[in-house]
Amino acid sequence: MARYLEAKCRLCRREGEKLFLKGSKCYSAKCPMEERPFPPGMHGQGRRVKVSNYGIQLREKQKVKRIYGLQERQFLGYYKDADKMTGITGTTLLQLLESRLDNVVYRMGFASSRTEARQIVRHKHINVNGSILNVPSYRVKAGDTIALVDSAKEHLRINASVEAAGQKGTPEWLDVDLQQRQGVYRELPARDQLDAGIREQLIVELYSK
Ligand code: SF4
Repeated sequence: MARYLEAKCRLCRREGEKLFLKGSKCYSAKCPMEERPFPPGMHGQGRRVKVSNYGIQLREKQKVKRIYGLQERQFLGYYKDADKMTGITGTTLLQLLESRLDNVVYRMGFASSRTEARQIVRHKHINVNGSILNVPSYRVKAGDTIALVDSAKEHLRINASVEAAGQKGTPEWLDVDLQQRQGVYRELPARDQLDAGIREQLIVELYSK
């Protein structure tokens, strides 16, 4: 499966905001966005380009695609699914992205980033409703129980993530028992429970052209 090969921090600098792609580093002074919040490259700091509407829509789509670590084809697939479903397309798009198994593992605090969560899922460290599932794109449904397998409960990195989640807290739409290393996907997140910085309407406008 194709993956982003570009350095993750460059993606944040390209979008001009923190996308939180690298776990604990993103919350530390080592985050390059703390000191150099401008696009990468020799002329990044001096760029002053008037951006068209299309450009703004495109950047928003790229940003969200990068946050969830998806390729264009996968992202478009989510948009098409959202467009066919009832409800507000932009909100449904975000709900579908949030329902990916790798994202839920990340949100539950078992990984410090979505990339790490994807690895944990691929390495068969996750049970869904009692059975091992190693498909990061699996669409988690309301009522599904997600748990770490016993052998993963002693992993140092996982435990560090769980400890950090204990301090930061976990989303309201998930019932997480960090002690037991498991949680239930209680319900689809409402729009106001998701990232307020995402302007999903721009993505809908882009794909509706
Ligand atoms: Fe982005 Fe995290 Fe790198 Fe900061 S440390 S630039 S938030 S990926």
